[in-house]
Amino acid sequence: MCNLHTSHTSLANLDLTNRCNLRCPICFANANQAGYVYEPSFDEVVFMMEKLREERPVPTPAIQFSGGEPTIYPRFFDVIRKAKELGFAQIQAATNGIKLAEDPDFARNCAEAGLNTIYLQFDGVTDDIYMKTRARKLLDIKIKAIENVRQLTDKRPSIVLVPTVVRGLNDHQIGDIIKFALKNRDVIRAVNFQPVAFTGRIDQKEREEGRYTIPDLIKDVKNQTGYSTEEDWFPVPSVAPVSAYASAILREDKVTFTTHPHCGMATYWFVNDKDEVVPLTQFVDVDGLMKEIFDLAKDASSATFPKLSLLKAQKILRKHIDESKMPEGLTTTQFIETLTNVVNNKTKTGLAKFSWNMMLISSMHFQDDYNYDIERVRRCAIHYVVPDGRIIPFCAYNGGPTYRTEIEKKFSVPLEEWRKTRGNEYT
Ligand code: SF4
Repeated sequence: MCNLHTSHTSLANLDLTNRCNLRCPICFANANQAGYVYEPSFDEVVFMMEKLREERPVPTPAIQFSGGEPTIYPRFFDVIRKAKELGFAQIQAATNGIKLAEDPDFARNCAEAGLNTIYLQFDGVTDDIYMKTRARKLLDIKIKAIENVRQLTDKRPSIVLVPTVVRGLNDHQIGDIIKFALKNRDVIRAVNFQPVAFTGRIDQKEREEGRYTIPDLIKDVKNQTGYSTEEDWFPVPSVAPVSAYASAILREDKVTFTTHPHCGMATYWFVNDKDEVVPLTQFVDVDGLMKEIFDLAKDASSATFPKLSLLKAQKILRKHIDESKMPEGLTTTQFIETLTNVVNNKTKTGLAKFSWNMMLISSMHFQDDYNYDIERVRRCAIHYVVPDGRIIPFCAYNGGPTYRTEIEKKFSVPLEEWRKTRGNEYT
Protein backbone atom coordinates (compact mmCIF):
# COMPACT_ATOMS: atom_id res chain seq x y z
CA MET A 1 0.00 0.00 0.00
CA CYS A 2 1.22 3.52 -0.61
CA ASN A 3 2.04 5.81 2.31
CA LEU A 4 -1.04 7.93 1.71
CA HIS A 5 -3.39 5.03 2.32
CA THR A 6 -5.43 5.25 5.51
CA SER A 7 -7.22 1.91 5.92
CA HIS A 8 -5.86 -1.58 6.41
CA THR A 9 -7.25 -4.54 4.46
CA SER A 10 -10.60 -5.67 5.84
CA LEU A 11 -11.33 -7.99 2.95
CA ALA A 12 -8.89 -9.13 0.29
CA ASN A 13 -9.85 -10.23 -3.19
CA LEU A 14 -7.77 -12.87 -4.89
CA ASP A 15 -8.58 -13.69 -8.53
CA LEU A 16 -7.94 -17.40 -9.05
CA THR A 17 -8.57 -17.35 -12.80
CA ASN A 18 -10.15 -15.32 -15.58
CA ARG A 19 -11.62 -18.47 -17.14
CA CYS A 20 -15.35 -18.89 -16.65
CA ASN A 21 -18.16 -21.38 -17.25
CA LEU A 22 -20.44 -18.53 -18.42
CA ARG A 23 -20.15 -16.02 -21.27
CA CYS A 24 -21.88 -12.94 -19.86
CA PRO A 25 -22.39 -10.13 -22.39
CA ILE A 26 -21.73 -7.58 -19.64
CA CYS A 27 -18.31 -9.09 -18.77
CA PHE A 28 -15.13 -8.01 -20.54
CA ALA A 29 -12.84 -9.78 -18.12
CA ASN A 30 -13.14 -13.40 -19.18
CA ALA A 31 -10.32 -15.23 -20.95
CA ASN A 32 -12.23 -15.49 -24.20
CA GLN A 33 -12.66 -11.71 -24.50
CA ALA A 34 -9.24 -10.84 -23.10
CA GLY A 35 -7.29 -13.20 -25.40
CA TYR A 36 -5.19 -14.59 -22.53
CA VAL A 37 -5.57 -16.76 -19.46
CA TYR A 38 -4.67 -15.30 -16.10
CA GLU A 39 -4.50 -18.14 -13.63
CA PRO A 40 -1.88 -17.99 -10.87
CA SER A 41 -0.28 -21.30 -9.89
CA PHE A 42 -1.08 -22.85 -6.51
CA ASP A 43 2.33 -21.71 -5.20
CA GLU A 44 1.64 -18.16 -6.34
CA VAL A 45 -1.76 -18.25 -4.63
CA VAL A 46 -0.14 -19.42 -1.38
CA PHE A 47 2.48 -16.66 -1.66
CA MET A 48 -0.24 -14.02 -2.09
CA MET A 49 -2.19 -15.33 0.90
CA GLU A 50 0.95 -15.29 3.04
CA LYS A 51 1.52 -11.65 2.08
CA LEU A 52 -1.96 -10.81 3.35
CA ARG A 53 -1.42 -12.57 6.66
CA GLU A 54 1.91 -10.72 7.06
CA GLU A 55 0.17 -7.32 6.93
CA ARG A 56 0.52 -5.16 10.05
CA PRO A 57 -0.92 -3.88 12.34
CA VAL A 58 -3.85 -6.11 11.31
CA PRO A 59 -3.23 -9.33 9.37
CA THR A 60 -5.95 -9.54 6.72
CA PRO A 61 -8.85 -11.35 8.43
CA ALA A 62 -11.07 -12.09 5.43
CA ILE A 63 -10.36 -13.32 1.92
CA GLN A 64 -12.65 -13.62 -1.08
CA PHE A 65 -11.72 -15.82 -4.04
CA SER A 66 -12.97 -14.36 -7.27
CA GLY A 67 -12.38 -14.52 -11.01
CA GLY A 68 -13.57 -15.32 -13.70
CA GLU A 69 -15.24 -18.18 -11.89
CA PRO A 70 -13.08 -19.26 -8.94
CA THR A 71 -14.81 -22.62 -8.45
CA ILE A 72 -13.32 -23.95 -11.71
CA TYR A 73 -9.77 -23.43 -10.39
CA PRO A 74 -8.17 -26.91 -10.46
CA ARG A 75 -7.06 -26.84 -6.80
CA PHE A 76 -9.98 -24.84 -5.43
CA PHE A 77 -10.44 -26.97 -2.29
CA ASP A 78 -6.69 -26.98 -1.57
CA VAL A 79 -6.75 -23.18 -1.78
CA ILE A 80 -9.57 -22.99 0.77
CA ARG A 81 -7.81 -25.44 3.08
CA LYS A 82 -4.59 -23.43 2.84
CA ALA A 83 -6.46 -20.18 3.59
CA LYS A 84 -7.86 -21.81 6.71
CA GLU A 85 -4.44 -23.06 7.76
CA LEU A 86 -3.03 -19.54 7.33
CA GLY A 87 -5.59 -18.19 9.78
CA PHE A 88 -8.15 -16.30 7.71
CA ALA A 89 -11.28 -16.04 9.87
CA GLN A 90 -13.59 -15.48 6.90
CA ILE A 91 -13.10 -17.40 3.66
CA GLN A 92 -15.46 -16.45 0.85
CA ALA A 93 -15.99 -17.31 -2.80
CA ALA A 94 -17.75 -15.07 -5.34
CA THR A 95 -19.52 -17.47 -7.66
CA ASN A 96 -22.23 -17.78 -10.28
CA GLY A 97 -23.36 -20.95 -8.45
CA ILE A 98 -23.18 -23.37 -11.40
CA LYS A 99 -20.73 -25.80 -9.77
CA LEU A 100 -22.71 -25.75 -6.52
CA ALA A 101 -25.93 -26.47 -8.39
CA GLU A 102 -24.54 -29.22 -10.60
CA ASP A 103 -23.07 -31.35 -7.85
CA PRO A 104 -24.17 -31.58 -4.19
CA ASP A 105 -20.74 -33.03 -3.37
CA PHE A 106 -19.13 -29.82 -4.56
CA ALA A 107 -21.00 -27.87 -1.86
CA ARG A 108 -20.05 -30.52 0.73
CA ASN A 109 -16.38 -30.36 -0.26
CA CYS A 110 -16.44 -26.55 0.02
CA ALA A 111 -17.85 -26.82 3.53
CA GLU A 112 -15.37 -29.48 4.59
CA ALA A 113 -12.46 -27.45 3.24
CA GLY A 114 -13.58 -24.48 5.37
CA LEU A 115 -15.48 -22.09 3.10
CA ASN A 116 -17.51 -19.71 5.30
CA THR A 117 -19.45 -17.59 2.82
CA ILE A 118 -20.77 -18.00 -0.69
CA TYR A 119 -21.12 -14.67 -2.51
CA LEU A 120 -23.78 -15.76 -4.96
CA GLN A 121 -24.22 -13.65 -8.10
CA PHE A 122 -28.00 -13.06 -8.10
CA ASP A 123 -29.29 -10.46 -10.55
CA GLY A 124 -33.03 -11.05 -10.17
CA VAL A 125 -35.91 -13.41 -9.53
CA THR A 126 -36.99 -13.97 -13.15
CA ASP A 127 -35.13 -15.43 -16.10
CA ASP A 128 -35.64 -12.48 -18.45
CA ILE A 129 -33.10 -10.62 -16.29
CA TYR A 130 -30.52 -13.42 -16.58
CA MET A 131 -31.06 -13.63 -20.33
CA LYS A 132 -30.05 -9.96 -20.56
CA THR A 133 -27.14 -10.01 -18.12
CA ARG A 134 -25.80 -13.55 -18.56
CA ALA A 135 -27.28 -14.68 -21.92
CA ARG A 136 -28.72 -17.77 -20.24
CA LYS A 137 -31.60 -18.74 -17.97
CA LEU A 138 -30.07 -19.16 -14.54
CA LEU A 139 -32.80 -18.86 -11.93
CA ASP A 140 -33.18 -22.64 -11.51
CA ILE A 141 -29.40 -22.92 -11.13
CA LYS A 142 -29.41 -20.33 -8.33
CA ILE A 143 -32.26 -22.09 -6.55
CA LYS A 144 -30.56 -25.47 -6.89
CA ALA A 145 -27.27 -24.05 -5.58
CA ILE A 146 -29.08 -22.66 -2.53
CA GLU A 147 -30.85 -26.00 -2.03
CA ASN A 148 -27.57 -27.95 -2.16
CA VAL A 149 -26.08 -25.65 0.46
CA ARG A 150 -29.22 -26.01 2.60
CA GLN A 151 -28.80 -29.81 2.61
CA LEU A 152 -25.45 -29.53 4.38
CA THR A 153 -25.72 -30.40 8.02
CA ASP A 154 -22.14 -29.76 9.05
CA LYS A 155 -20.13 -26.50 8.75
CA ARG A 156 -22.68 -25.07 6.32
CA PRO A 157 -21.40 -21.88 4.64
CA SER A 158 -23.82 -18.95 4.66
CA ILE A 159 -24.97 -17.31 1.46
CA VAL A 160 -24.86 -13.64 0.52
CA LEU A 161 -26.91 -12.71 -2.54
CA VAL A 162 -25.01 -10.27 -4.75
CA PRO A 163 -27.15 -8.45 -7.34
CA THR A 164 -25.44 -6.08 -9.77
CA VAL A 165 -28.04 -3.34 -10.24
CA VAL A 166 -28.53 -1.47 -13.51
CA ARG A 167 -31.22 1.20 -13.81
CA GLY A 168 -34.02 0.08 -16.11
CA LEU A 169 -32.79 -3.51 -16.15
CA ASN A 170 -33.36 -5.01 -12.70
CA ASP A 171 -33.96 -2.09 -10.30
CA HIS A 172 -37.68 -2.96 -10.28
CA GLN A 173 -36.81 -6.29 -8.61
CA ILE A 174 -35.00 -4.90 -5.54
CA GLY A 175 -37.96 -5.71 -3.28
CA ASP A 176 -38.48 -9.18 -4.76
CA ILE A 177 -34.80 -10.06 -4.31
CA ILE A 178 -35.00 -9.04 -0.65
CA LYS A 179 -38.22 -11.01 -0.13
CA PHE A 180 -36.54 -14.04 -1.71
CA ALA A 181 -33.65 -13.67 0.74
CA LEU A 182 -35.99 -13.32 3.73
CA LYS A 183 -37.86 -16.45 2.70
CA ASN A 184 -34.57 -18.36 2.58
CA ARG A 185 -33.05 -16.78 5.69
CA ASP A 186 -32.07 -20.16 7.12
CA VAL A 187 -29.17 -20.11 4.62
CA ILE A 188 -29.05 -16.54 3.28
CA ARG A 189 -27.71 -14.01 5.77
CA ALA A 190 -27.32 -10.92 3.60
CA VAL A 191 -28.03 -9.19 0.32
CA ASN A 192 -25.21 -7.01 -0.94
CA PHE A 193 -26.43 -4.82 -3.80
CA GLN A 194 -23.75 -3.54 -6.14
CA PRO A 195 -24.82 -0.62 -8.36
CA VAL A 196 -23.18 -1.12 -11.73
CA ALA A 197 -19.68 0.28 -12.30
CA PHE A 198 -19.06 0.96 -15.97
CA THR A 199 -15.94 -0.71 -17.27
CA GLY A 200 -14.76 0.16 -20.74
CA ARG A 201 -15.98 3.07 -22.80
CA ILE A 202 -19.62 3.99 -22.68
CA ASP A 203 -21.30 7.10 -24.08
CA GLN A 204 -22.89 9.65 -21.77
CA LYS A 205 -26.49 8.86 -22.71
CA GLU A 206 -26.10 5.14 -22.09
CA ARG A 207 -24.26 5.86 -18.86
CA GLU A 208 -26.90 8.23 -17.55
CA GLU A 209 -29.64 5.77 -18.41
CA GLY A 210 -27.98 2.87 -16.60
CA ARG A 211 -26.41 4.74 -13.68
CA TYR A 212 -27.83 3.62 -10.35
CA THR A 213 -26.68 4.94 -6.98
CA ILE A 214 -26.86 3.99 -3.31
CA PRO A 215 -29.53 6.67 -2.58
CA ASP A 216 -31.57 5.15 -5.47
CA LEU A 217 -31.28 1.78 -3.76
CA ILE A 218 -32.37 3.09 -0.37
CA LYS A 219 -35.45 4.65 -1.96
CA ASP A 220 -36.26 1.47 -3.88
CA VAL A 221 -35.91 -0.70 -0.78
CA LYS A 222 -38.35 1.59 1.01
CA ASN A 223 -40.85 1.72 -1.85
CA GLN A 224 -40.66 -1.91 -2.90
CA THR A 225 -40.63 -3.58 0.53
CA GLY A 226 -42.11 -1.05 2.95
CA TYR A 227 -39.78 -2.48 5.62
CA SER A 228 -37.42 0.43 6.15
CA THR A 229 -36.89 4.14 5.60
CA GLU A 230 -33.87 6.29 4.80
CA GLU A 231 -33.24 6.64 8.55
CA ASP A 232 -32.44 2.95 8.91
CA TRP A 233 -29.29 3.07 6.75
CA PHE A 234 -25.79 3.87 7.97
CA PRO A 235 -22.52 4.31 6.09
CA VAL A 236 -20.03 1.47 6.58
CA PRO A 237 -17.57 3.39 8.86
CA SER A 238 -20.36 3.99 11.40
CA VAL A 239 -19.39 0.72 13.08
CA ALA A 240 -15.77 1.82 13.61
CA PRO A 241 -16.39 2.63 17.34
CA VAL A 242 -17.18 -1.06 18.00
CA SER A 243 -13.80 -2.03 16.51
CA ALA A 244 -12.08 0.72 18.46
CA TYR A 245 -13.62 -0.60 21.67
CA ALA A 246 -12.77 -4.25 20.85
CA SER A 247 -9.18 -3.21 20.10
CA ALA A 248 -8.98 -1.31 23.39
CA ILE A 249 -10.21 -4.09 25.64
CA LEU A 250 -8.39 -6.90 23.85
CA ARG A 251 -5.17 -4.84 23.63
CA GLU A 252 -4.79 -5.82 20.00
CA ASP A 253 -5.64 -3.96 16.78
CA LYS A 254 -8.89 -5.38 15.41
CA VAL A 255 -10.19 -4.99 11.90
CA THR A 256 -11.84 -1.58 11.48
CA PHE A 257 -14.09 -0.55 8.60
CA THR A 258 -12.79 2.92 7.86
CA THR A 259 -13.91 3.14 4.24
CA HIS A 260 -15.19 6.42 2.83
CA PRO A 261 -18.88 6.98 3.72
CA HIS A 262 -19.78 7.26 0.03
CA CYS A 263 -18.59 3.72 -0.69
CA GLY A 264 -21.25 1.72 1.09
CA MET A 265 -24.37 1.81 3.26
CA ALA A 266 -26.08 -0.92 5.24
CA THR A 267 -29.04 -1.68 7.43
CA TYR A 268 -29.64 -4.63 9.77
CA TRP A 269 -33.09 -6.12 10.05
CA PHE A 270 -34.48 -8.49 12.65
CA VAL A 271 -37.00 -11.03 11.43
CA ASN A 272 -39.23 -12.98 13.81
CA ASP A 273 -41.07 -16.29 13.43
CA LYS A 274 -44.13 -14.50 12.04
CA ASP A 275 -42.02 -13.00 9.24
CA GLU A 276 -42.28 -9.52 10.76
CA VAL A 277 -39.32 -7.36 9.83
CA VAL A 278 -37.97 -4.75 12.23
CA PRO A 279 -34.88 -2.69 11.34
CA LEU A 280 -32.37 -2.50 14.18
CA THR A 281 -32.66 1.28 14.21
CA GLN A 282 -36.30 1.06 15.27
CA PHE A 283 -35.30 -0.14 18.73
CA VAL A 284 -31.67 0.97 18.99
CA ASP A 285 -30.51 4.58 18.99
CA VAL A 286 -27.45 3.84 16.83
CA ASP A 287 -26.08 7.42 16.79
CA GLY A 288 -26.18 7.76 20.58
CA LEU A 289 -24.83 4.27 21.12
CA MET A 290 -21.84 4.67 18.78
CA LYS A 291 -20.91 8.02 20.27
CA GLU A 292 -20.81 6.62 23.81
CA ILE A 293 -18.99 3.43 22.73
CA PHE A 294 -16.36 5.57 21.02
CA ASP A 295 -15.86 7.62 24.21
CA LEU A 296 -15.63 4.39 26.20
CA ALA A 297 -13.04 3.03 23.75
CA LYS A 298 -10.88 6.12 24.35
CA ASP A 299 -11.07 5.61 28.13
CA ALA A 300 -10.47 1.86 27.90
CA SER A 301 -7.40 2.24 25.71
CA SER A 302 -5.56 4.04 28.52
CA ALA A 303 -7.02 1.98 31.43
CA THR A 304 -4.91 -0.55 33.34
CA PHE A 305 -7.69 -3.15 33.34
CA PRO A 306 -9.68 -2.31 30.18
CA LYS A 307 -11.99 -5.35 30.47
CA LEU A 308 -13.51 -3.82 33.60
CA SER A 309 -15.29 -1.43 31.25
CA LEU A 310 -17.43 -4.27 29.86
CA LEU A 311 -20.04 -3.68 32.56
CA LYS A 312 -20.21 -0.05 31.57
CA ALA A 313 -20.53 -1.07 27.92
CA GLN A 314 -23.54 -3.21 28.78
CA LYS A 315 -25.10 -0.31 30.67
CA ILE A 316 -24.59 1.97 27.65
CA LEU A 317 -26.18 -0.63 25.39
CA ARG A 318 -29.23 -1.00 27.64
CA LYS A 319 -29.59 2.77 27.76
CA HIS A 320 -29.88 2.98 23.97
CA ILE A 321 -32.24 0.04 23.49
CA ASP A 322 -36.01 0.43 23.62
CA GLU A 323 -37.26 -3.06 24.51
CA SER A 324 -40.90 -2.16 23.84
CA LYS A 325 -40.08 -1.74 20.14
CA MET A 326 -38.15 -5.00 19.76
CA PRO A 327 -39.50 -7.77 17.54
CA GLU A 328 -41.40 -10.51 19.32
CA GLY A 329 -39.11 -13.22 20.64
CA LEU A 330 -36.10 -10.99 21.18
CA THR A 331 -35.03 -9.66 24.58
CA THR A 332 -32.44 -7.06 25.50
CA THR A 333 -30.36 -9.79 27.16
CA GLN A 334 -30.30 -11.93 24.00
CA PHE A 335 -29.48 -8.91 21.91
CA ILE A 336 -26.58 -7.93 24.20
CA GLU A 337 -25.36 -11.52 24.16
CA THR A 338 -25.11 -11.53 20.37
CA LEU A 339 -23.32 -8.18 20.36
CA THR A 340 -20.91 -9.33 23.09
CA ASN A 341 -20.16 -12.38 20.95
CA VAL A 342 -19.17 -10.14 18.09
CA VAL A 343 -16.82 -8.13 20.31
CA ASN A 344 -15.30 -11.11 22.13
CA ASN A 345 -15.17 -13.71 19.45
CA LYS A 346 -12.66 -14.78 16.89
CA THR A 347 -15.02 -13.36 14.25
CA LYS A 348 -16.44 -16.52 12.68
CA THR A 349 -18.80 -17.72 15.41
CA GLY A 350 -19.52 -14.13 16.29
CA LEU A 351 -20.70 -13.29 12.82
CA ALA A 352 -22.72 -16.47 12.55
CA LYS A 353 -24.53 -15.82 15.84
CA PHE A 354 -25.07 -12.15 15.07
CA SER A 355 -26.81 -13.05 11.83
CA TRP A 356 -28.86 -15.90 13.24
CA ASN A 357 -32.18 -14.09 13.08
CA MET A 358 -30.97 -11.03 11.30
CA MET A 359 -30.66 -9.99 7.68
CA LEU A 360 -28.01 -7.58 6.53
CA ILE A 361 -29.04 -5.45 3.56
CA SER A 362 -25.98 -3.68 2.28
CA SER A 363 -24.57 -1.97 -0.73
CA MET A 364 -21.18 -1.07 -2.12
CA HIS A 365 -20.88 1.14 -5.15
CA PHE A 366 -17.56 0.31 -6.78
CA GLN A 367 -16.11 3.20 -8.71
CA ASP A 368 -15.56 3.52 -12.43
CA ASP A 369 -13.65 6.03 -14.56
CA TYR A 370 -16.65 8.38 -14.54
CA ASN A 371 -16.97 8.83 -10.78
CA TYR A 372 -13.43 8.05 -9.65
CA ASP A 373 -12.62 9.78 -6.36
CA ILE A 374 -9.11 9.58 -4.94
CA GLU A 375 -10.33 10.29 -1.39
CA ARG A 376 -12.47 7.17 -1.54
CA VAL A 377 -9.55 5.13 -2.84
CA ARG A 378 -7.29 6.35 -0.02
CA ARG A 379 -9.73 4.97 2.54
CA CYS A 380 -10.52 1.76 0.69
CA ALA A 381 -10.53 -1.37 2.87
CA ILE A 382 -11.18 -3.90 0.12
CA HIS A 383 -7.95 -4.76 -1.62
CA TYR A 384 -6.59 -7.05 -4.31
CA VAL A 385 -3.48 -9.07 -3.74
CA VAL A 386 -1.49 -9.84 -6.90
CA PRO A 387 1.22 -12.39 -7.80
CA ASP A 388 4.16 -10.03 -7.22
CA GLY A 389 2.97 -9.54 -3.63
CA ARG A 390 1.52 -6.05 -4.02
CA ILE A 391 -1.74 -5.12 -2.33
CA ILE A 392 -3.89 -2.70 -4.35
CA PRO A 393 -7.22 -0.96 -3.51
CA PHE A 394 -10.14 -2.58 -5.33
CA CYS A 395 -11.24 0.51 -7.24
CA ALA A 396 -7.68 1.37 -8.33
CA TYR A 397 -7.30 -2.18 -9.59
CA ASN A 398 -10.45 -2.08 -11.70
CA GLY A 399 -10.75 1.65 -12.50
CA GLY A 400 -8.73 4.89 -12.48
CA PRO A 401 -5.13 3.72 -13.01
CA THR A 402 -6.56 0.20 -13.60
CA TYR A 403 -3.69 -1.96 -12.35
CA ARG A 404 -5.57 -5.06 -13.51
CA THR A 405 -4.40 -4.57 -17.12
CA GLU A 406 -0.71 -4.41 -16.20
CA ILE A 407 -0.88 -7.30 -13.74
CA GLU A 408 -2.85 -9.67 -15.95
CA LYS A 409 -0.60 -8.99 -18.94
CA LYS A 410 2.48 -9.69 -16.88
CA PHE A 411 1.22 -12.91 -15.32
CA SER A 412 -0.89 -14.44 -18.09
CA VAL A 413 -0.51 -16.95 -20.91
CA PRO A 414 -1.80 -16.18 -24.45
CA LEU A 415 -5.07 -17.99 -25.07
CA GLU A 416 -3.77 -20.07 -27.98
CA GLU A 417 -0.76 -21.24 -26.01
CA TRP A 418 -2.98 -22.19 -23.06
CA ARG A 419 -5.32 -24.16 -25.31
CA LYS A 420 -2.41 -26.05 -26.89
CA THR A 421 -1.01 -27.18 -23.56
CA ARG A 422 -4.03 -27.24 -21.23
CA GLY A 423 -7.04 -27.69 -23.50
CA ASN A 424 -9.91 -25.30 -24.11
CA GLU A 425 -12.13 -25.97 -21.11
CA TYR A 426 -13.89 -22.76 -20.02
CA THR A 427 -11.86 -20.56 -22.41
S1 SF4 B 1 -12.79 2.43 -2.93
FE1 SF4 B 1 -14.14 0.97 -4.06
S2 SF4 B 1 -13.76 -1.08 -3.19
FE2 SF4 B 1 -12.83 0.46 -1.82
S3 SF4 B 1 -14.35 0.73 -0.24
FE3 SF4 B 1 -14.70 2.32 -1.81
S4 SF4 B 1 -16.16 1.40 -3.31
FE4 SF4 B 1 -15.40 -0.23 -2.00
